[in-house]
Amino acid sequence: MRKIPMMRFEVASACQYDCAMCAHGGMRLRAPRYQLSLDQLERFIEATRQSDYFIEDLRMHGPGEPLLWDHLEHALPRLKASGVIGRIFIATNGLLVHKLSEASWEHIDEMRISLYDGFTRQDEVRAVMARHGDKIILNECDDFLELPADLAHAAPVPCHCRCDGPMLYGDRMYLYCGPPVFSAMDLMGMDDDAALWTAVAPGYMDAVVPGRLGNLAQCAHCWGNSSFDTWVPQSTQGGGWK
Ligand code: SF4
Ligand code: SF4
Repeated sequence: MRKIPMMRFEVASACQYDCAMCAHGGMRLRAPRYQLSLDQLERFIEATRQSDYFIEDLRMHGPGEPLLWDHLEHALPRLKASGVIGRIFIATNGLLVHKLSEASWEHIDEMRISLYDGFTRQDEVRAVMARHGDKIILNECDDFLELPADLAHAAPVPCHCRCDGPMLYGDRMYLYCGPPVFSAMDLMGMDDDAALWTAVAPGYMDAVVPGRLGNLAQCAHCWGNSSFDTWVPQSTQGGGWK
């Protein structure tokens, strides 16, 4: 069995917010109605099982708000029952966390709730914390990661990547990158780069070329590159990503 320490899991593009510095924005603009389908979920599970992979930490981020994924309540027990997934982590903006069923909570190991400017559902979050506080990390606005101020100005490459893959997105496995690579490609005038991904099929991790992580042309304009010299706080206003 091959253990994969972490995988990003992209399930839905929609989001109630429109953060100016949404690191997933380029991805969301390309496919604003993207939802990972149940067929895609099953193909991923079967390919992972046939490959004899075990994903230790599956991280559900978006590319928008993961609690807007139509299939979330079905997928959580399915993933846990598959035998190929260890921990399940969800990052959410907290607006719908009070709607999650207790059955779903049984399959969630960790949740990060980011409280953006203007968040008004503190009472609902407190009620959820009372039941599941041992699984929840609250991320206040002041704690948010700052993001590069000027992506057009190239940062050094190779770099330390803060958003490495692999990342499941539909029927594709992005081998090196998380969502910010899409905004980098926008800046570079690229629609896509077939060298970044492989089809979800048995042995998908065999396509990884060692040394490419943090050493791609896209890294120079990517939020994931930790080498930019000027950083600004995130804002929840006016990204135009919707
Ligand atoms: S950064 Fe903001 S706009 Fe982007 S997915 Fe998160 S909450 Fe939504
Ligand atoms: S383009 Fe580079 S910095 Fe960005 S996510 Fe991919 S490997 Fe990381």
